[in-house]
Amino acid sequence: GASVSVSNLTMRYGSMVALDNVTLDVAEGEFLALLGPSGSGKSTILMNIAGFNIPSAGEIRIGSEVVTNKPPHKRGIGMVFQRYALFPHLTVAENIAYPLRRRGWKQKLIADEVERVLELVDLGAYGARYPAQLSGGQQQRIAVARAIVFKPSVLLMDEPLGALDRKLRQQLQLEIKRLHRTIGCTIIFVTHDQEEALSMADRVAVMRGGRIEQIGDPTSLYERP
Ligand code: ADP
Ligand code: ADP
Repeated sequence: GASVSVSNLTMRYGSMVALDNVTLDVAEGEFLALLGPSGSGKSTILMNIAGFNIPSAGEIRIGSEVVTNKPPHKRGIGMVFQRYALFPHLTVAENIAYPLRRRGWKQKLIADEVERVLELVDLGAYGARYPAQLSGGQQQRIAVARAIVFKPSVLLMDEPLGALDRKLRQQLQLEIKRLHRTIGCTIIFVTHDQEEALSMADRVAVMRGGRIEQIGDPTSLYERP
């Protein structure tokens, strides 16, 4: 995993200030949750780190490198969204292979790596299926597999469990934590569910109105009056 540094990041949409001078340092291999109500700026931070948004002001570093003006595919970042992430016309294996094909990897290596991550998410037997033939939880595990197959140094997750029912959510929370321990990449995980943030993350940043209101490990936040 690589460290992620966001320095004095401001993001405006016209006169609307979505991020107001945010500074955030995430350590190598850390699992950080961004917690806050809808509209507080969580996704906007992720989109800026991923490179899908260019900030109005501020700087983003991944490891020692300034990436503020680099295109998304050169940032070494994997991303998982809440839903609609898989290509419906491609099989599970083809979905996972997609980022590797785009990077020009050799066919044999692609097949090996697809098999490796399918095992990592416990869906080794599902490569030939289409997304519509999988449950919601399985589809999200495939989306995770596709996001980590090229061994990104940072994994960004935007409410990845938000569309799942409670039981499945708890199961995937455990699976994502296990995966984090296995692959060791840095994770920034967006959620508006306090329990989820506190139970999963090494550290939680609480956002409100485009600012980080508080940040700390789950125990220190939990004990706050
Ligand atoms: P969260 O992820 O916490 O729900 P967002 O980062 O999506 O919050 O949004 C932060 C604020 O920026 C919200 O007020 C939202 O309406 C606004 N916003 C986000 N994206 C755009 C956009 N493309 N155009 C205009 N306003 C936007
Ligand atoms: P090493 O340091 O020897 O590469 P790691 O503990 O980093 O071993 O990785 C353990 C296993 O997880 C290896 O099979 C490696 O290929 C895989 N792995 C490491 N990083 C990632 C990643 N970001 N995404 C997916 N798999 C990974």
